[in-house]
Amino acid sequence: MKSFQKIRVVAFDADDTLWLNEPLFQQTQEKCRAVIQHYVDSAELDKRLYETERRNLKLFGYGVKGFILSMIETVIELSGGRISGKDIRHLIDLGKEMISRPIELLDGVEETVTALSGQYDLMIVTKGELFHQESKIARSGLAEYFKHIEIVSEKDENTYLQILNRHRIPAGEFLMIGNSLKSDIEPVCRIGGRAVHIPFHVTWTHEQVEQRRLDGIEYVEIENLKQLIPMLGEV
Ligand SMILES: [Mg+2]
Repeated sequence: MKSFQKIRVVAFDADDTLWLNEPLFQQTQEKCRAVIQHYVDSAELDKRLYETERRNLKLFGYGVKGFILSMIETVIELSGGRISGKDIRHLIDLGKEMISRPIELLDGVEETVTALSGQYDLMIVTKGELFHQESKIARSGLAEYFKHIEIVSEKDENTYLQILNRHRIPAGEFLMIGNSLKSDIEPVCRIGGRAVHIPFHVTWTHEQVEQRRLDGIEYVEIENLKQLIPMLGEV
């Protein structure tokens, strides 16, 4: 396994890497489904909602507000305009409830971030709505440990190159940690950075650090963020 000796900046994805996110979307979607079940068929709703969200991504970006607007748009279409103002109000309230929920840090996050902050410059690189992500970072209690916070609209090679250029970080000194192979791992490896994948919702029973390969790129996979401490601490 290649060592992490040159690493100077450790960047973290936020949603489902530092704190819980996707399950909250799923819970909210379930609640929305209960509100609108008498207007539309559930299977049809899921299919159409996904289509609407994809279409709206270019307009709204990622995040709860776009999700709720897409939900309302889909139900208006599927119900032929029959959804009541009261039920639309209920959907909006479910969105607000999700946005204002307390932050639930994932296991090992707090101790890893505090342990590494003494030795490395820490960064958050996250997609999503600026306002909501800023609020989550502030409420996480971890903001003080991060030197740089980057809230971006897309996480591709270009985005990472811009971030590295802006902060004058050589790619070889940059390590990205996240739960998404597409957003957190692949683009970073392609520009010469290092990456650690931490799959969300893993059920492995043993601690595992693996060197993995994906279409010509190499990255490391761990099951708990705490494993970063000995990995990086060894240098
Ligand atoms: Mg994520």
